[in-house]
Amino acid sequence: MGFSLPIIIQMAYLFAAALFIVGLHNLNSPATARRGNLTAAMGMFIAVVATLLHRDVVDYRTILAGVVIGSLAGTIAARKVKMTAMPQMVGIFNGFGGGASALVAIGEFWRLRGTSAAVPDDTLCTILWGLFIGGVTLSGSFMAFGKLQGFVPGRPIIFPLQRTINALLLIAYLAGSIYLMHVDIDRNVFLAVIGVSMVLGVLFVAPIGGADMPVVVSLLNSFSGLAASSAGFMLENNILIVSGALVGAAGAILTNLMSKGMNRSIVNILFGTVGAAAGPAARTTSEKSYRSIDVEQAAMILAYAGTVVIVPGYGMAVARAQQAVRDLAEQLEKRGVEVKYAIHPVAGRMPGHMNVLLAEAEVPYEKLYDMDDINPEFERTDVALVIGASDVVNPAARHAKGSPLYGMPILNVDKARQIIVVKRSMKPGFSGFDNELFTHEKTMMLFGDAREMAASVVSEVKTL
Ligand code: NDP
Repeated sequence: MGFSLPIIIQMAYLFAAALFIVGLHNLNSPATARRGNLTAAMGMFIAVVATLLHRDVVDYRTILAGVVIGSLAGTIAARKVKMTAMPQMVGIFNGFGGGASALVAIGEFWRLRGTSAAVPDDTLCTILWGLFIGGVTLSGSFMAFGKLQGFVPGRPIIFPLQRTINALLLIAYLAGSIYLMHVDIDRNVFLAVIGVSMVLGVLFVAPIGGADMPVVVSLLNSFSGLAASSAGFMLENNILIVSGALVGAAGAILTNLMSKGMNRSIVNILFGTVGAAAGPAARTTSEKSYRSIDVEQAAMILAYAGTVVIVPGYGMAVARAQQAVRDLAEQLEKRGVEVKYAIHPVAGRMPGHMNVLLAEAEVPYEKLYDMDDINPEFERTDVALVIGASDVVNPAARHAKGSPLYGMPILNVDKARQIIVVKRSMKPGFSGFDNELFTHEKTMMLFGDAREMAASVVSEVKTL
């Protein structure tokens, strides 16, 4: 007795779901992340093939056209996108995911409306939920993309009665849904609720500042998972339910980790518009005196140190300095200096930003240390070399109550024997809050672009 096709499909789905989970688990460490990605991709391939075997498929030609167009667009985008533009790419892909789920909801509504039988309440409820979350994800993600790409002003867009308008729109959505469920499945009311969900998505993202956008993108990613999951319920497709739930949960966990790393609650990020721009507590210039050094001095200090901890930040990403930083580390190691990298969980502008850049420059994973592992080592470190980082090393986070940084865990760079900070000016970082590390008695500022400075120090070290 052989297995019937539906059973084979369900077993393939189960196997695919297991691969997704193993893949996600492998993303835990940079050393296994590539394998994790491949494992999850394999799971998705199996899921897609199993779905194509489904008897309900009416026309393979449309599917093939979609696969070709989608694969082409995906490949080109993944190859062309710059590392610093990754949040907007993820953002737009989330948007498409949400849009696809919303389309499933619309398709289901139209199909059921065309049949003479009454549409069950639970089915309609799933459709309306899928439509809401999918619509919000679609328009919200496009708004986020626009802000990150500079098509829409990155600063928070605030207007009078914003929250009241949002609340009224939400009530309108609920009222429309109740009408559809209990009075009549009217086409115009349905179109109106589609419109309302899209407007809500735009208004939800508009007041959030450009630099908080990666957190919002992560949240929208979680929404796109929920939308996919609800599409799974509509289509009674188990793998869509499971994979959607996994994306939803993973996105929610990541959002939580990011807000914790920034010491902000997600409510504060979404509704506070605090870190979006320099808040009232922010100051932009420091009146205190600071010590500045040149490339030769920096090279001398680094070359004759026993231990150096490199602390990269957003500036390294902007300057694309990772290769030069790795060259510097290697040059120092040739001279017998022990070099480690300290990675703060929210350094840069997206989770894992520094890990990805340093991996791109082929820095060995074992040289990258998480905050908790490296912090106790700063006391024994001769030189902490901060490259384009500010907030993640600002000691004010420990004591400046009322500052946007207060309570944020930081890298204890100020405990090192000497500190060199490479950046272009005394300007603060993302939070807009003055960095007292720059005026610390142990700190020497090396002003300039991170890549140029790192490359110049390498050349100088070679001459010593
Ligand atoms: P910061 O934004 O605090 O500081 C970066 C510094 O880099 C700036 O002070 C800037 O100074 C300097 N810089 C910019 N361009 C260059 C360049 N070409 N060469 C040298 N230096 C340069 O970055 P951190 O990484 O320290 O902190 C990240 C911040 O971003 C945190 O506040 C975090 O909460 C926030 N954030 C992080 C997210 C994440 O997921 N990682 C998501 C959203 C926000 P200057 O202009 O003087 O050169």
